[in-house]
Amino acid sequence: MNSNLRIVNFGNMIKKAIVLFIVAILFSLPGRSQIVPWYFEVDENLLLGKIDFTKDARFNLVASNRSTKTCYLLVEVNWAFEEMAAAAQKEGVTLKVISGARNFDMQKAIWEKKWNARRPNFKSDRETALDILKYSSMPGTSRHHWGTDLDVNSLEPSYFASGKGKLEYEWLQKNAARFGFCQTYDNKSNSGRSGYSEEKWHYSYMPISTVLLNQYNEKISYEKINGFAGSQTAKEVEMIRDYVNGIAVSCNTITFP
Ligand SMILES: [Zn+2]
Repeated sequence: MNSNLRIVNFGNMIKKAIVLFIVAILFSLPGRSQIVPWYFEVDENLLLGKIDFTKDARFNLVASNRSTKTCYLLVEVNWAFEEMAAAAQKEGVTLKVISGARNFDMQKAIWEKKWNARRPNFKSDRETALDILKYSSMPGTSRHHWGTDLDVNSLEPSYFASGKGKLEYEWLQKNAARFGFCQTYDNKSNSGRSGYSEEKWHYSYMPISTVLLNQYNEKISYEKINGFAGSQTAKEVEMIRDYVNGIAVSCNTITFP
């Protein structure tokens, strides 16, 4: 009896030792803060959206229960969104990505469709560009190129004004920063920022997008923003200063969650 008990205890000790050994190994692996992330240095193709993110290992597909269509995000951003969406779901709030990474060609299709439709209504190229820029980016200047930014639930301002949409927006206002996300295009008259109109659906994963914005400012000049109808207006409307950098000041305080 005694010897049997001793054998049983010995078995448990081995199991405990194995578990402790595995935990020790896990804790000794480099954490996020100890490794140098890839995004500390990216090439300009990513910044300009000139990549195929469906074949780029830095990106992956947003889970089907967290998106309304096929959407890609940077792997780290996808992970952070999943954590946020799961936390929201526990409180009865459903968050779904309706648009994630968009490359240059996708943005060019959106931009040129609007350009061709609206150009006849305006006196100048500049006025046409400024009208489209209320909500849409020029190809080569969108934060959606980076895989750090996403649109959630609806692209209609009215959706977030009442009912379910209002509750979702209120949840995001209260909680998004805990997961590293920020509404980059807030109410301009309140925050004093330049650029796009308010977008209650557009969120950016600041721990990475802050790094990419710095690199954009270092590496991208107006000569590199071309290849689409109306690209000659980019400098005139101060795309880089007023739009690429025109984000909510409060977002800059968000770091790794
Ligand atoms: Zn967006």
